[in-house]
Amino acid sequence: MLIEENIPLAPLTTFRIGGPARFFVEAKSLADVQDAVAFSQSRNLPLFVFGGGSNLLVADTGWPGLVLKVAIGGIDRRAGTDDGKVLFDVGGGESWDRFVSHSVIADCAGVECLSGIPGSVGGTPVQNVGAYGQEVSQTIDAVEVFDTKDGQVRQLCNEACGFSYRSSIFNTSERGRFIILRVAYALIPGGEPYLEYADLKRHFAGRETRPNLAETREAVRHIRARKGMLIIEGEPDCRSAGSFFKNPVISAAQHEELRKRADAMKLTIPSYPALEKNMKVSAAWLVEHSGYSRGYGFGHAGISSKHALAIVNRGDATAADVLALKDEIQHRVEQIWGVRLETEPVFVGSGE
Ligand SMILES: Cc1cc2nc3c(=O)[nH]c(=O)nc-3n(C[C@H](O)[C@H](O)[C@H](O)COP(=O)(O)OP(=O)(O)OC[C@H]3O[C@@H](n4cnc5c(N)ncnc54)[C@H](O)[C@@H]3O)c2cc1C
Repeated sequence: MLIEENIPLAPLTTFRIGGPARFFVEAKSLADVQDAVAFSQSRNLPLFVFGGGSNLLVADTGWPGLVLKVAIGGIDRRAGTDDGKVLFDVGGGESWDRFVSHSVIADCAGVECLSGIPGSVGGTPVQNVGAYGQEVSQTIDAVEVFDTKDGQVRQLCNEACGFSYRSSIFNTSERGRFIILRVAYALIPGGEPYLEYADLKRHFAGRETRPNLAETREAVRHIRARKGMLIIEGEPDCRSAGSFFKNPVISAAQHEELRKRADAMKLTIPSYPALEKNMKVSAAWLVEHSGYSRGYGFGHAGISSKHALAIVNRGDATAADVLALKDEIQHRVEQIWGVRLETEPVFVGSGE
């Protein structure tokens, strides 16, 4: 295991922002993970687990301890489950989109709508990655983790992961405790693609035959590219961490208050039922109706010209620039709509 020093983190993130890691290690096996954790514990260094760097805002001062990048690879197809599904055991360091492509080629349904999401397989359970009507919580069978509390390797079943919208135990109650080594997904062989989401319905409108998994994957990638949500090298709207704000999930009473404010401005706020008795409101709509149009500039940071929810690095932005824009947006949205937007990316190091 090679432990490097003062490694710049910005090039390893999709935002291209942030200072260096004091120590940095790429863990290709369980043994590497064990050695790296022992190294950080013996020196009392704070440990940060890094995946594909697509949901991170790294502080300008970097990370003062050890950054452990999970690089465990491999996609293994296993015997199926009792209900006829096929299990894929995937290394935490595998590219997520490579796995989606692999599953589509193998004609297995369940993650096709999650095509084009950047990052690693190990990153997907953390915020229960979701898009176009699918979430990984619907297909994750189990997550293999290294427990930094006692050094044991454990299998966490789906229920133990506590999944909900953009949330799991990995980014809430047990944040920082588990290193995800492998994830097992249960997919449906020969299954139909999931085509319930409005954007996908529009894409295939007028078609007489039902699209297959590969066509659905291509459609999702196409829609994402239009919104700047597909990483394309050299494309300025891609220097982001995806959506910067979550869609607020609010109570019926809060929603009524919001509706009244919108009515007074002769506007209709897009929202839909979520969980029991709650409503989910479009964060993009709130941002756009608080004076922030796509392409809004704020020094070196700004809003994507294709998507109101993505804060982008317009070149040479610092983490401080991004945080200042984030504060401004949160403040204005709260002032106008009475809703506090929660952020989605993980802040690494000081600054937040
Ligand atoms: C253009 C773009 C589009 C996006 N679209 C979507 C979308 O549609 N839906 C969506 O949900 N997200 C989206 N994202 C966000 C991001 O891609 C996902 O959250 C992704 O799963 C993050 O994975 P990662 O490997 O890059 O994790 P990182 O960004 O490296 O880390 C994110 C968090 O996960 C933890 N982590 C990562 N790997 C491990 C591991 N092996 N063990 C333990 N903890 C780990 C880190 O410590 C950190 O807390 C988008 C991002 C971008 C840039």
